[in-house]
This record gives sequence, structure tokens and C-alpha cells, in this order.
Amino acid sequence: MLIDIAEFDNRAKRFRYSYGPGEFNIQDESLICRREPVCDLSIVRKHEEVRISGSLVTEVSASCARCLIAVSIPVDLQLDLIYHPVVESFAEEPDLELSYQDLNLSYYANDVIDLDELIREQIQLALPVRVLCREECRGLCPVCGADRNRETCSCAGKQIDPLWEALAKLIEER
Ligand SMILES: [Zn+2]
Ligand SMILES: [Zn+2]
Repeated sequence: MLIDIAEFDNRAKRFRYSYGPGEFNIQDESLICRREPVCDLSIVRKHEEVRISGSLVTEVSASCARCLIAVSIPVDLQLDLIYHPVVESFAEEPDLELSYQDLNLSYYANDVIDLDELIREQIQLALPVRVLCREECRGLCPVCGADRNRETCSCAGKQIDPLWEALAKLIEER
């Protein structure tokens, strides 16, 4: 979904959009979109600066970093974003670098704002650093791969299979 900025001016205009089934591509193999995004936005444009505020609701799922079970993550955000046209370098707009964080500044090109991209960025920001099914998740046994939340295996003290160990390490590091 592309937002044509020419349709907006200095009077706030409502922009609502609900994605249809399969329309939103999350473009992240570690995530699944469980509920199509719904945006209820207000858009104001002053010359080249576009301000987008309003709500974004969706739901994604990701694997628990320890036990790999799918964890549902509701996303319900209030946005307030400023878009400027892409510039060749920050040198052309020296003030931008300083205010970057404060303004929640993003960039658009070719007079359109890619709503899909906006949503993908916001989802990434909303995700926890590490997805866990619960804080005390016990993860998978590094010896036999058993889900230690569900069963107690008898591997304690046994030699760890190097393959599982490597996998468990990978999982732990994600
Ligand atoms: Zn878990
Ligand atoms: Zn085990």
C-alpha cells in the first residue's frame, strides 16, 4: 500500500486502511503475521514534511528463543511519525542528525510513503529484544531435545550430543 503524499495538505485528513487476507508481507522469516494490519491514521503535509499519527493494530507470532514454541505478540501502537523526502546526505540538512531520535524521523522517495514498510518498522520496534513464551521458560534439553517445560528427561549429567549443543547454543544466542 503506497500513500501518495500529493493527496494531503496542511489540514489533517483521516486515512484508514485494513489489509486484506495475505496482502501484508511481513518480509521476516522469523515472524508470522497472525492478524492483518489495521491502520487508523491522520495525515498532514506541510510542504515536503509529512506527519503521520494514529493507531496501528496487528498481531504477529515468533518462536520462543528457548523452546521454539510459537508466541503470539499483539501489536497495538499509537504512532507519531515525521517523514521527510530522502536527501543525498545529512550534510544538506545539518539539523536532521540531531533531531533524528526526537522526531521519529523517516524518509520517503518519489512522493510516496510505503505503508507496508512503515508497518514492518513499527512491528520490529514493538518486538521484545528476545521473544520468550514466559520468563521462566526452561527451554529444550541440550542432550535429547525434550521440551523441559513439558517433560523431565533423565539427561542431567549425560554427555551432550555436540549437534544438540551447537543447536541449543544457536537458539540461546538468537
Ligand atoms: Zn519457551
Ligand atoms: Zn534430555
